[in-house]
Amino acid sequence: MTDTIFGKIISGEIPAKIVYEDKQCLAFRDLNPQAPVHILVVPKKSIVKVADATESDKELLGHLLFVASNIAKDEGVGGAFRLVINNGETAGQSVFHLHVHLLAGRNFSWPPG
Ligand code: AMP
Repeated sequence: MTDTIFGKIISGEIPAKIVYEDKQCLAFRDLNPQAPVHILVVPKKSIVKVADATESDKELLGHLLFVASNIAKDEGVGGAFRLVINNGETAGQSVFHLHVHLLAGRNFSWPPG
């Protein structure tokens, strides 16, 4: 497990508002939500960023998207949501443990900032 804040949430060392868990991932509410629904889907395996995923992680990457979509349905926002993965500091990544942002409940503009 990487020594990031998400590693500590996965190990139970620090608390989080968990909305979903299975063998491969954990999903919890973002501490600083950018939309009415803002949930992070995090693999339990400590991959630093999506660009570091390997061939053997392909099923896991797909699983994260599938879980995010199911959570959106559970949250009542299955019809309109945005999934974001920031890869690297200049792309906006601040926690270096791969995660998918699930954002919903407001309108989103494009291109993103
Ligand atoms: P990123 O900038 O893509 O790496 O996203 C990191 C996200 O983690 C940000 O949206 C933060 O608000 C969120 N975050 C940081 N610490 C925590 C925490 N302890 N619990 C929940 N979300 C957090």
